[in-house]
Amino acid sequence: AKACGRDRSERFDEAMRAEATRLLDLEADLRRAILQDAFEPWFQPIVRVADGEVVGHEALLRWRHELHGMLYPAEFIGVGEDSGLIEQVDWLMYRHVFRHLAAGASPGYVSINVSPRHFRSGDFVERLLGLADEAGADPRRLRIEITEVALLDDAPRALRMLNTLRTHGVLVLLDDFGTGFSALSYLHRFPIQALKIDQSFVQGLGSGMHAESLALVRAILALAGTLGIDTIAEGVETAQQRDQLHALGCQYGQGYFYGRPSNAFEPGARIA
Ligand code: C2E
Ligand code: CA
Ligand code: CA
Ligand code: CA
Repeated sequence: AKACGRDRSERFDEAMRAEATRLLDLEADLRRAILQDAFEPWFQPIVRVADGEVVGHEALLRWRHELHGMLYPAEFIGVGEDSGLIEQVDWLMYRHVFRHLAAGASPGYVSINVSPRHFRSGDFVERLLGLADEAGADPRRLRIEITEVALLDDAPRALRMLNTLRTHGVLVLLDDFGTGFSALSYLHRFPIQALKIDQSFVQGLGSGMHAESLALVRAILALAGTLGIDTIAEGVETAQQRDQLHALGCQYGQGYFYGRPSNAFEPGARIA
């Protein structure tokens, strides 16, 4: 039994070492990728549910790795956040987005994702507005997506930041709504344009519907309606989900049903 225990702990050590090496490699790779600016935005349409009009796009981060091909945020954002490198990645990413905006290729707005720590760091708002200005991007075409965590830590400061952004025309979307420890009482205090209803609830709509998902989506829509905040359903994958969201009064949708992220904008057309 003793030998067996040692075996197990040795195997465990080995696995730990392999994992640590992998993470270290990824961190070194990430540093190199930052020097090379190996990042690019992909765009996914956000659509008005009632008539399929494309109102904007969400910019989603992609890393073109020299050996491993296209990497998705899930594969490197953890390492990026732990090492603090994600902020540099984000600035490179935002600059690409601003160039697209300046080129005038997109119908409607483009939203960018901001991690909570990045949002709370130093001079985020000034830097963002400065970079947009430098690139010739109209801030009124820009929106930022943040989660609730970004707001709750230092609420007065967060409020000042959102107000400054709004003064310049940058509206705010609250991402992954419903998954956090939603302290609903704060919602009315912040200038928030829209709640993005997390895809985990949206995927419980349509056929094979979950009663709890339906109840939650209903509650979020009622809350948003009361506060005069728009709603965007994330992860819409089927026509049934679209139909149900329409019946429930959700204004906007995003998901594979409407279009996958791609390196080109959806033309300003309608998507049923
Ligand atoms: P998110 O902000 O919640 O973005 C939505 C994710 O859902 C995206 O994954 C998108 O490709 C995926 N998605 C869209 N429609 C559907 C659908 O119908 N079904 C399913 N199953 N998935 C769908 P992605 O691109 O892999 O991004 C993952 C996360 O990485 C994002 O979640 C966001 O939190 C983060 N992220 C993305 N871009 C950036 C960035 O530029 N900076 C930072 N800091 N984080 C980013
Ligand atoms: Ca998002
Ligand atoms: Ca989301
Ligand atoms: Ca998310």
